[in-house]
Amino acid sequence: MVQHVKLARERRKRKSRIKAMIFFFAVLCIITGGILSLKNTAENAPLDTTKPPEETQYQALQPTSPADSEQHSATSENSTEQGEPPVTAQHNDIKEEQKNDATSFDDELLAEDDEVDQIDLGQAKLPDDAQSILDDLLDAADQAKRISDQFSYTVVRGDKLKDVLEMSGLEDDTSQRLIAAYPELKNLKAGQQIYWILDNQNELEYLNWLVSEKEERIYERKEQDKFARQVIEKKSIWKKDVLKGKIDGTLTASLKKLGLDNRQINQLNTALQWQVNVAKLGKGDTFAVLVTREYLGDKLTGQGNVDAIHIRTNGKSYYAIQSDNGRYYNRQGETIGKGFARIPLQRQARISSQFNPQRRHPVTGRVRPHKGVDFALPSGTPVIAPADAVVEKVAYQAGGAGRYIVLRHGREYQTVYMHLSKPLVRAGQSVKRGERIALSGNTGISTGAHLHYEFHINGRPVNPMTIKLPGTNSGMKDSERKSFLVKAKAAERQLKL
Ligand SMILES: [Zn+2]
Repeated sequence: MVQHVKLARERRKRKSRIKAMIFFFAVLCIITGGILSLKNTAENAPLDTTKPPEETQYQALQPTSPADSEQHSATSENSTEQGEPPVTAQHNDIKEEQKNDATSFDDELLAEDDEVDQIDLGQAKLPDDAQSILDDLLDAADQAKRISDQFSYTVVRGDKLKDVLEMSGLEDDTSQRLIAAYPELKNLKAGQQIYWILDNQNELEYLNWLVSEKEERIYERKEQDKFARQVIEKKSIWKKDVLKGKIDGTLTASLKKLGLDNRQINQLNTALQWQVNVAKLGKGDTFAVLVTREYLGDKLTGQGNVDAIHIRTNGKSYYAIQSDNGRYYNRQGETIGKGFARIPLQRQARISSQFNPQRRHPVTGRVRPHKGVDFALPSGTPVIAPADAVVEKVAYQAGGAGRYIVLRHGREYQTVYMHLSKPLVRAGQSVKRGERIALSGNTGISTGAHLHYEFHINGRPVNPMTIKLPGTNSGMKDSERKSFLVKAKAAERQLKL
């Protein structure tokens, strides 16, 4: 009996010990969570778009008169010197060594700007219930990037594997290695879809090539540099579907409700990006989509292609229709994508430092990737927009980039300009290709007057001098154009709203 009571007491004790542990653990979680969220808020703070004090400061610094402008540059020089004295000293040494090699080893953007004028192109158009629908608003590509590094792309005529993989910032050697092992990858065809995933080292991990409606090839990395291939013959059927709807919330959310997956929504956003601001579409706008989708039995497999879309907003119709070359055009067969100029300058300039992910700092010897290209230019040289854009950010960083600008071109592309002497645009402003956006300079940490220019695709810097520029090679041949116009007429009929 006594034994029994003892045992029961012990059991109770053990139970309460476990309870105490659980309680302690819960408290620990809450505290950790609290600290993390505080940290997040702190980190996000500089990104806040509504920062009256800084904006005012920026406005004051906007050179409206010569006097203002002088004051302006005096301020920047001051802050450069105050910034980090030892670094500046080092830089003076470099300046001596490389008089003819104007560049910067500190053009990696810091998390915090000393001054900033910025618009968040996604959030700026959000209605009141912003937070709850933020996820829907983020376009599919961005969303995919956040979850893990996955990308999808529809091949257009002339694309090589390296052009496709460069969309995710991968260097040429990955495609070379793949093609060496599997030469069939040399022959990509317009309209084929490719879906790929990068691992956390930004190396290719998985590539899915939709060769045809009957065949799919998967390349998976097994060990460093070694890929295994899997060929899948498909027994599924492909059907054309017309999906019509009214936007309730966002276009992305409405399309998801109709059964389109992220890859097709991504494709559609790409098709529309130059005509309509997808983020601006809202309640009451209508749409119709023509898709070819794969079914296994009566189930969708997730593979599919967007053939055409019609959007009606503010009493206007917008169409994007895919041609046999994989690109999208309006009903008249006119190119939708805007051409990019190779360099953001009115004339050629000497390159003082090339794009180089492996570049080393001459003093510390550490790898300091050069994410852009440097043009040696006298201060005050006009910098022009290489394509139509919206100014996303005009900011200043004394300890690196100096005065810099970020332009957004459609959904996938951004360009960055550093060490400017004077910006000529404001955040939120639209600019046309060829329009002056700034004067070049030598602000921030820099070894001489130059322009540092970056080209980003889906948030990743690529070599601006070698990247296949969007929209520059999209013309249709006469025969192709004829068949496109027939296709467009049919699509128009099917997509009536
Ligand atoms: Zn540079």
